[in-house]
Amino acid sequence: MTIAAHPLVARARELADGLLSPAAERVDQEGIPPGHIEAVKRSGLLGMSAPVAYGGSAAPASVVRETAEILAGACCSTWFVQTQHQTPVLTLAGTALPVRERLLGPLARGELLSGVAYAHLRSYPRVPVRVRREADGWRFSGTVPWYTGWGLNDVLLLAGVTEDDEALFAFVEAREQPGLRPSELMRLAALTASRTVSLDLDGLCVPEEAVALRTPYARWAAADRPKTRNANPAVFGIAEAALALVEEEYAAVLRGRLAEIRRRAYALADHPVPDEHVEERLAVRAEAFTLMRAATTAAVVTGGGRAMLLDHRAQRLAREGLFLLVQGQTSASRAVHLKRLAERHDSGR
Ligand SMILES: Cc1cc2nc3c(=O)[nH]c(=O)nc-3n(C[C@H](O)[C@H](O)[C@H](O)COP(=O)(O)OP(=O)(O)OC[C@H]3O[C@@H](n4cnc5c(N)ncnc54)[C@H](O)[C@@H]3O)c2cc1C
Repeated sequence: MTIAAHPLVARARELADGLLSPAAERVDQEGIPPGHIEAVKRSGLLGMSAPVAYGGSAAPASVVRETAEILAGACCSTWFVQTQHQTPVLTLAGTALPVRERLLGPLARGELLSGVAYAHLRSYPRVPVRVRREADGWRFSGTVPWYTGWGLNDVLLLAGVTEDDEALFAFVEAREQPGLRPSELMRLAALTASRTVSLDLDGLCVPEEAVALRTPYARWAAADRPKTRNANPAVFGIAEAALALVEEEYAAVLRGRLAEIRRRAYALADHPVPDEHVEERLAVRAEAFTLMRAATTAAVVTGGGRAMLLDHRAQRLAREGLFLLVQGQTSASRAVHLKRLAERHDSGR
């Protein structure tokens, strides 16, 4: 079966063309309506990486990437809320702890939507969220700087670092409760619609049976690091959507360059050893950003003055592209991206 013919890709396309894309400028300004979340839950896409035995599809990586491109190109806010769910699914699929039997089925079948709060672990040795053992479970304290999907998600996978330097991930109900207080919804340059907040944790009590992963921090970080080096498929989705607004004469040239970098990015993502080709992965990731920015800029230039109107597609895609530049950024990818930007500036003199 070709990727395009896969049922999940067809469903993503239906959702994108029938619902998300036509409403994207309105959603960008007003927020994701509950009906769109319901449609995502019904689509089967929430279980794409989940085991078949739990109601998921166990789809190959190529299909997961294609659906990400389609959804991000249609409505980046909805894609982002949807994509957060995949880490909790994969975490549950990889554990034998009791929480797997309680939550993997409902998450795989789209009965529950999960968010995540773990990017702050990457700032180690700074520890924004600490976890302390108590007789009846664990207590979380500190500040989660970014949490997307507040009011949309049913549960959240929350991470912190224990006194023994372990990364501990546990599921929590995604609502205000003793020890968990959200900030106001953030007003952002892009993705305000995704309902992002910070979370103040003040001794939030989490029972042992909610724990999904507990492992030495160094081991978690070693497995996490490769994930942040590859180009994000959403970057190609935004670029494609932008090029659809550009005159074909110019779009075709950028599309050709984009296809080549996409091919390299996905070959690296499929490479069996995720720790190899580190420099090349980061360089390809940065180059994908360069092409995405060229595509969104071309869309703005094509749109002219009207492109500045908040209901114009070009400016929305350009702003969403800005968000992708920093999403999942680590000190390593940050350094490579900045270095390449400086090199380009030099060579243009
Ligand atoms: C709108 C939005 C929604 C988000 N939603 C979620 C969510 O739901 N769940 C979640 O877990 N995360 C979420 N994130 C977090 C996102 O993935 C992080 O922004 C990303 O990981 C980068 O982290 P940062 O902004 O804290 O660090 P950045 O400033 O991008 O820096 C990356 C790393 O580089 C290092 N660094 C920073 N400044 C310097 C410097 N001057 N010199 C050298 N090194 C430096 C730090 O170690 C840092 O960890 C969201 C972010 C945004 C913007």
